Amino acid sequence: MELFRLTIAEAAGLISKNELTPLALTESVMGRIGALDSLVGAYITVTKDIAMEQAGRLSAGSGNSPLHGIPMAIKDNMCVKGVRTTCASKILENFIPPYESTVTTKLHEAGYCLTGKTNLDEFAMGSSTENSGFFTTKNPWDITRAPGGSSGGSAAAVAADMCIAAIGSDTGGSIRQPASFCGVVGLKPTYGLVSRFGLVAFASSLDQIGPITKTVEDAAIVLNAIAGGDNRDSTSAHNAIPDYTASMSGDLQGINLQGIKIGIPEEYFIDGMDREVEAAVRAAIGEMRRLGAEVVSIKLPHTAYAVAAYYIIATSEASSNLARYDGVKYGMRVSGSDLISTYMETRAKGFGQEVKRRIMLGTYALSSGYYDAYYKKAQQVRTLIKRDFDEAFKLVDVIATPTSPTTAFKIGEKADDPLQMYLSDIFTISVNLAGVPAISIPCGFDSGGLPVGLQLIGRHFDEAVILKAGHAYERSAGWYERRPSI
Ligand code: GLN
Repeated sequence: MELFRLTIAEAAGLISKNELTPLALTESVMGRIGALDSLVGAYITVTKDIAMEQAGRLSAGSGNSPLHGIPMAIKDNMCVKGVRTTCASKILENFIPPYESTVTTKLHEAGYCLTGKTNLDEFAMGSSTENSGFFTTKNPWDITRAPGGSSGGSAAAVAADMCIAAIGSDTGGSIRQPASFCGVVGLKPTYGLVSRFGLVAFASSLDQIGPITKTVEDAAIVLNAIAGGDNRDSTSAHNAIPDYTASMSGDLQGINLQGIKIGIPEEYFIDGMDREVEAAVRAAIGEMRRLGAEVVSIKLPHTAYAVAAYYIIATSEASSNLARYDGVKYGMRVSGSDLISTYMETRAKGFGQEVKRRIMLGTYALSSGYYDAYYKKAQQVRTLIKRDFDEAFKLVDVIATPTSPTTAFKIGEKADDPLQMYLSDIFTISVNLAGVPAISIPCGFDSGGLPVGLQLIGRHFDEAVILKAGHAYERSAGWYERRPSI
């Protein structure tokens, strides 16, 4: 087998036994990027020199982290000191951060090798990477299709073996939906579990960082490394961090879901969703029942209002967060005749259409006279949605839903219809509004050979149960063994 095909768990096993060096593994992955990325377009910046230098240094020693010598990609909205960080926006095209995000600091301490910075929708606003200010990433299962978004570059890089694992960010589904479209695993942790320091802010009350990996076990390994309190992020939680890999025995015999109660929300099986997606998700639920889980029907009554509330809250926060790109402090500057015109010209040239749309929507929702009708109302709806989850989790341990109503759509299919694009987040958004954790796991394929994703949602800070259930399902169903033929 080619080395680039390895999972973290497999590679770490070989590295710890001195049967594989970080250098050989990194060389293989960088070669794969060289051969494939002109077709897929997963990376904005490839950091081959950094990766090879790190791998060379790590080959000399041995580490005690399973990430020792593992080549990983980082979504290009997280700061790596000295490496261009663009957010796929023209306004930050040449921005080189003078500091390092907490997540990459932790990965560095664990011994990862940075393969590069991956493509996204500009400032993480979108569901297809078509809003990138530079180029659109292709789905490795079918290059005429979108990889999902906004972490489409990270998901495509994992699916096409152009890294062993990647990091994404998720504000309304941006880890889970691309993972679902690309047939890989994506985990959005509980809000506050992973520090956001050094993540370029989109909507600060919703943003979370998490892993995109080939298996559930790999997601647990990465989460072990990146979770934990951080004084540089005032919203980060200082909880004790369990070992997320604890429930993952390699032994198939030992796998069962006895004692786990899974809820199926009626509101997530809607008219208009793809029948093949529904069939695959229902089959996955059947498989979890066969493994011993108890499956019951539940209600999340305010689901229908989630997309509307999200697009008010997220745009409001974005309009405030993006005020800092004024052509003065950092990024692009287009000089006008005076200060105000410099601001205006810089922002007119630097931001793409979707980012401008959101700044305008958010500014409107926050403006006096409209604040109570829009922003305040949306916050009230958010509370109702969170309460729906609190009630449901009195009855069940895990909630299972589709990740997305469709499989990967064609590039261009929804690009001119923002509302259609917003609706593709319908199953992922409530999770961010409530702040709970959720994982997307491959659960089959449609008749066109495109992957379908199963979403498992857990209680606040109960990543362990969705990882356990996800791992058990993944091992018994075996979909992870099917890879794109690219
Ligand atoms: N697709 C959603 C949006 O456009 C979510 C994006 C994200 O999670 N960053 O806002």
